Amino acid sequence: MIVPYECRCGSSYAPTADRWRCDCGGLLDLPLGAVRWPPRTDVRSMWRYLDAGDLPWRDVTLGEGDTPLVREDRELYLKVEFASPTGSFKDRGAVVLVALARALNASRLVADSSGNAGTAVAAYAARAGVAAEIFVPAGTSEKKLQQIRGHGARVTVVEGSREDTAAAAAARVEESGAFYASHVYNPYFHEGTKTYALEIFEQLGGAVPATLVLPAGNGTLVLGAHRGFAELRAAGLIDRIPRIVAVQSELCAPLAEAWTAGRDEPEPVRPGHTLAEGIAIADPARGSRILVAVEDSHGAFVTVGEDEIAEAHAALAARGLWVEPTGSVSYAAVRRLRAEGSSLVIGGPIVAPLCGSGLKASL
Ligand SMILES: [Zn+2]
Repeated sequence: MIVPYECRCGSSYAPTADRWRCDCGGLLDLPLGAVRWPPRTDVRSMWRYLDAGDLPWRDVTLGEGDTPLVREDRELYLKVEFASPTGSFKDRGAVVLVALARALNASRLVADSSGNAGTAVAAYAARAGVAAEIFVPAGTSEKKLQQIRGHGARVTVVEGSREDTAAAAAARVEESGAFYASHVYNPYFHEGTKTYALEIFEQLGGAVPATLVLPAGNGTLVLGAHRGFAELRAAGLIDRIPRIVAVQSELCAPLAEAWTAGRDEPEPVRPGHTLAEGIAIADPARGSRILVAVEDSHGAFVTVGEDEIAEAHAALAARGLWVEPTGSVSYAAVRRLRAEGSSLVIGGPIVAPLCGSGLKASL
């Protein structure tokens, strides 16, 4: 599974512990992989869908993936990603990054996160015996900080924006040579999040949903889900991919603004204070790729307001589902689009994830 990184400038690199971007400064990508189908039957976790090859995943796994797909009504399914080992879908990507760090003989790693990716990386690093330092922006919920520290990782709180936090982490990586377990820069994260798509395909008995409604901040789930269905399409197993409705907070919507304006790249925004802190990304590094993925799916971007997020959170709780506020945005978007009679949510199954546990952060 360890294949070379590629950059759009034409360079490629065999992964090493200290490689996280191209010498030209560009982002690293991975070519589409060959999908493993049917999945292996001797493993219950997300690893049933991956040809893990050289990755020492058995030393790191906590049984991530295999989350419930709950039927909410005739067409809507909710995927309970908060039933993941550390309480969020980020486990899917984090376990792959940490297994990669182990395979590359990294003794320490660095990550930056507004919370859930940091907690996931800290947990898997602890299990793998790799020292971890997690950079978080000031204001990150105390429960997430406790979780990161509990796993033995060092926490560095950065006074400043989410972007300042990433810059501080990157500087530490450069000075220390640590493995950068970045859910934004390392494309192996999407090898993990693509299993979200493969799992839905299997859970629906080989049916392709009409619509995936997904939160979008740094786009790790949008890019992963698109990748999973694109690999199924490339293998001839399906003839279309679901339309992807990517959801942002009205108070921080650089991707939705670029989509509406017809631009190829988002422009940085000044974020407001939103309940959806987990997707409040003012300047998403993979923005152009996220826009292309949504366009390829014949999907769209939508934004939801604070009241809609709070109402969706309460409506989910009334149905027995306790999610963190950010985890409510997909459901908020489904409610809005249905109320408007939008064509984006007709024509077959709709799947929306509940990304993080309500025990991590409250309204
Ligand atoms: Zn390059």
